[in-house]
Amino acid sequence: MIYQGNAISVARDDEGIATLTFDLKDESVNKLSSAVVQELEQALEALRGESDIAGLVLASAKDAFIVGADITEFHGLFAKGEDEIQSMLEQVHGIFNGLEDLPFPTVSAINGLALGGGCEVTLATDFRVMSETAKIGLPETKLGILPGWGGCVRLPRLIGADNAIEWIAGGTENRADACLSVGAVDAVVPPESLEAAARDILNRARSGELDYQARRTEKCSPLGLDAIEQMMAFETAKGYVAGKAGPHYPAPIEAIKVIQKGAGEERARAQAIEAKAFGKLALTDVCYNLVGLFLNDQVVKKKGGQYAKQSVPVERAGVLGAGIMGGGIAYQSASKGTPILMKDIKDEAIELGLKEARKLFAKQVERGKLSNEQMAERLSNIRPTLSYGDFSHVDLVVEAVVENPKVKGAVLAEVEENVSEDTILTSNTSTISITRLAENLKRPENFCGMHFFNPVHRMPLVEVIRGEKTGDGAVAATVAYARKMGKTPIVVNDCPGFLVNRVLFPYFGGFSQLMAAGADFQRVDRVMEKFGWPMGPAYLLDVVGMDTAVHAGEVMAEGFPERMGSLGGAGSEGKSAIQVMFDNERLGQKNAKGFYAYEEDKKGKPRKVRDEAAIELVKGIAESGREFSDEDIIARMMTPLCLETVRCLEDGIVGTPAEADMALIYGIGFPPFRGGALRYIDAMGLEAFVAQADELAAELGALYAPTDRLREMARNGERFYQ
Ligand code: NAD
Repeated sequence: MIYQGNAISVARDDEGIATLTFDLKDESVNKLSSAVVQELEQALEALRGESDIAGLVLASAKDAFIVGADITEFHGLFAKGEDEIQSMLEQVHGIFNGLEDLPFPTVSAINGLALGGGCEVTLATDFRVMSETAKIGLPETKLGILPGWGGCVRLPRLIGADNAIEWIAGGTENRADACLSVGAVDAVVPPESLEAAARDILNRARSGELDYQARRTEKCSPLGLDAIEQMMAFETAKGYVAGKAGPHYPAPIEAIKVIQKGAGEERARAQAIEAKAFGKLALTDVCYNLVGLFLNDQVVKKKGGQYAKQSVPVERAGVLGAGIMGGGIAYQSASKGTPILMKDIKDEAIELGLKEARKLFAKQVERGKLSNEQMAERLSNIRPTLSYGDFSHVDLVVEAVVENPKVKGAVLAEVEENVSEDTILTSNTSTISITRLAENLKRPENFCGMHFFNPVHRMPLVEVIRGEKTGDGAVAATVAYARKMGKTPIVVNDCPGFLVNRVLFPYFGGFSQLMAAGADFQRVDRVMEKFGWPMGPAYLLDVVGMDTAVHAGEVMAEGFPERMGSLGGAGSEGKSAIQVMFDNERLGQKNAKGFYAYEEDKKGKPRKVRDEAAIELVKGIAESGREFSDEDIIARMMTPLCLETVRCLEDGIVGTPAEADMALIYGIGFPPFRGGALRYIDAMGLEAFVAQADELAAELGALYAPTDRLREMARNGERFYQ
């Protein structure tokens, strides 16, 4: 053994071939934490001290090769400032350059995922062989940074600037065939042949058949593009990527600039350019928040995994109601391999539900993601029915009938009679208390909420709601089923609106206040979209539907009368803008008129257009024609939403800040680069946030009033995230 550390070992065989194996102790995956990077330096040092080494194989003893740097270290490291970041990057460049410059040929045997730093370390070797099942990628731009360990320098020299830009700006994970076709790897082989293939490459390099020195020269020299190639590769890409990433995500464009600036330089200069840009990005709020998002996502996934472990898998499911939600739930279950009975009371509804599912499967076939046979097989996982005939065999039922407590109560009691004693019953209600719905059941312990978001196939979040009598088994099974459906479940406690709608309606309350004060809703939409929301509040209300919003608003008003009594915005006629839209039968997209009018575009999708009638209606309720700055609009919209998130955390509706923030990002499209409501408060500073809320509360009332605990946190200099 040449070297043995906690994560790395190096051994040599009789032929002088050394193998450096990554196998991080007590972890399921390999990560390049700062400690592992130190070990790599020591291991390479030990190798250099050996005589007669004929070649080196980099290998992994885990399923994944290396998943990347240790992201849990990022906040701490980046907080130390630019100099520390630069010195870390210089150190790693030194180590990787040392690997690249070893006096014998080197090859990476990539057996599984090689991402970020895990990909960059393989780029420092002369050759790469890859298992058919492995994937390689540089996802750093998704964290608001760029590949800083030589990826922006080596990859374009290896696969061309255009391909490298696609990989780096897109943050894609690339399959073996794609890697081979662009030349990122030298061979793709079945997993069992990986080691032999790596040795074969080294032997061919030793015999002179493969010129490993030429590889190094290529990787260490300028890219050598002429002016037209530069123009094609960089300027065109910048335009395209800027359009795709949008103004809030600077990293992809910065990465292209780094590749461009470094293109005419030798290795050391190009690496210095990369390091400088990395340091700049690492200090941005966007990077801080995106890293935070990744860590929060880990927390949520881990919790979900812990719940799911306590449950037997759901093998057969049932859904009641074949409407928008029921149809979507049936599609999602079937497409992820869980057969599902879809029951409705009307033939036409079932036909509609099936048609919708067929359409979604057909799209997958069109995109080449499914074959016709696979589509037929998955579609056959949905079994439409008008009776409870086969329900005795299902493990879990999702009730998704109309939002009416009496109907739901009757339907749940009915289905309970037709399932086995262990079947878990869930409801997709958006507003009705789970504790209250459980009153209709003989086995309330087997019942909880399973709240999907529309459209089901696209929205990642499922709120799993624990009622007063819900048992752990019901929660565990529901979490397990949501995960099997490819969703991210977050467990919350019961209250009106649960977590997500409870937080969303105060945001609509802020909107109504603005309307009552005379703000222009189109402007409010533009400001909030610029802030980062996928759609402004008026547009979102049109999508949700005014009937749904009015109904849910009433539930929230009943649940929290002191601050959501009228959801703020009664204008001069004593009605909110939402109510006025509803009273004028402007329900939103569903009847093609709401705050906007809707026309069908070429693809048959609704396109919003300005509608004077709606503008006049809203003007009609305004108490004044007050002018608001963009900052005023943002403060009036965001404060109630953020405060309600704080209340949900204080009331124990949601367990942790991480879960609260992820639920808002996954459920209502809270701007991800802002990290969530609680991170938003942290970024503003609790003291400043409380001061702003107090000022607004003086004029606008309880919806804007901070809680006592939040005041205390502000006084103590506390934060939601440490
Ligand atoms: P929908 O009106 O499109 O569908 C309801 C379906 O239930 C209809 O097909 C109806 O025929 C059927 N139905 C009625 N009584 C039934 C019974 N006794 N047995 C079987 N089927 C019956 O409604 P939707 O939008 O799909 O909403 C369903 C539930 O999901 C509601 O509780 C709603 O609050 C909730 N939800 C809706 C959304 C959304 O955006 N639409 C989002 C989250 C949750």
